[in-house]
Amino acid sequence: MTERIISIADERYQRLPPHVPAPHEIPAGPPTDRLGRRLHDLRISVTDRCNFRCTYCMPKSVFGADYAFLPQSSLLSFEEIERLVRIFIEHGVEKIRLTGGEPLLRRHVERLIEKLARLQTRQGQPLDITLTTNGSLLARKARALRDAGLQRVTVSLDAIDDAVFRQMNDVDFPVADVLEGIAAAAAAGLAPIKVNMVVKRGVNDAQIVPTARHFRGSGHILRFIEFMDVGASNGWQMDDVLPSAEVIARIHAAFPLRSLEANYQGEVAERWAYQDGQGEIGVISSVTRPFCAGCTRARLSTEGRLYTCLFADRGHDLRALLRSDHDDAQIARAIAHLWLGRDDRYSEIRSAQTAALRKIEMSYIGG
Ligand code: SAM
Ligand code: SF4
Ligand code: SF4
Repeated sequence: MTERIISIADERYQRLPPHVPAPHEIPAGPPTDRLGRRLHDLRISVTDRCNFRCTYCMPKSVFGADYAFLPQSSLLSFEEIERLVRIFIEHGVEKIRLTGGEPLLRRHVERLIEKLARLQTRQGQPLDITLTTNGSLLARKARALRDAGLQRVTVSLDAIDDAVFRQMNDVDFPVADVLEGIAAAAAAGLAPIKVNMVVKRGVNDAQIVPTARHFRGSGHILRFIEFMDVGASNGWQMDDVLPSAEVIARIHAAFPLRSLEANYQGEVAERWAYQDGQGEIGVISSVTRPFCAGCTRARLSTEGRLYTCLFADRGHDLRALLRSDHDDAQIARAIAHLWLGRDDRYSEIRSAQTAALRKIEMSYIGG
């Protein structure tokens, strides 16, 4: 019986067996994909489970009591993740983001952070390690995460109004507890804290200005994200998207803004500062201003599949290589081969047709 559940949950998405090329087939040095993009960031999903049921991400109608989450034996162990991260570093990765599902639900996730914090980039610098969380367990865990070597944290918060927030997380979780988590993270030194708010027209767009008002002057950076057509559960339509330009216009009318230079080339968020010096905000315009041209991100799912795009429908089964007798050099060549062949640019070619295609869920791969 257990066997059967494992196979159903594991085969929800198509799995491709990676090709392991011979040494002479792979050029030396970090790989560059077919559109000239290097491999710089790795997002690692450490669990597909979550204690929220955000209506746009894990609607209860799909993620109900009988939903088959991945069994423990399917998950990559912390040792397996560390082994892969070492290999990714050789390919040029400098930044790791832990995500989920809700990453703080993974037991002892701080032990994984401890392992990763000991690794260094090719240039001998510490890895840049961060984590995206819904904040529900942050008040309890912030100190341990910081002590383990986590540098920063991004907290998702879709409304500052308690009633709207409870409705959106759909488990009646109070906004005050997330704010307590943010305060604990700041006190533990996980700063600057980024607060991500996904904007869905007609659902929480009335919260844009109140949420901006709340975080103005706090030192935290509020970022507004356009609602995306990830997965197949959230019933996305273009009409649900409130363009970032409109977000900026609404905030500018209440609190005048001026645009800021990017922190670095290829930064995903566009930065804006309050003219009265009360800090900055950001907008991430994944739909109206796609940033595929600078996309240097790979994503590793909880059970070890590599995705070269958030909108992919199939992943490359690195766990199969880890759990067979392949050595690190072979796995490194398999990953290089995948990256060399990458030509993903989904957001640039998005249409009503592509939006209707079957894709991996956000709660599975973590954004
Ligand atoms: N549970 C954690 C959290 O909520 O921060 C981490 C995983 S969650 C999938 C990562 C981020 O993806 C969250 O900020 C969430 O709001 C965002 N997200 C989920 N579905 C989305 C969608 N359809 N469009 C845009 N962002 C989305
Ligand atoms: Fe959970 Fe994050 Fe998805 Fe909300 S957005 S359901 S908190 S994974
Ligand atoms: Fe990167 Fe794919 Fe998003 Fe484009 S659509 S930015 S390639 S993840």
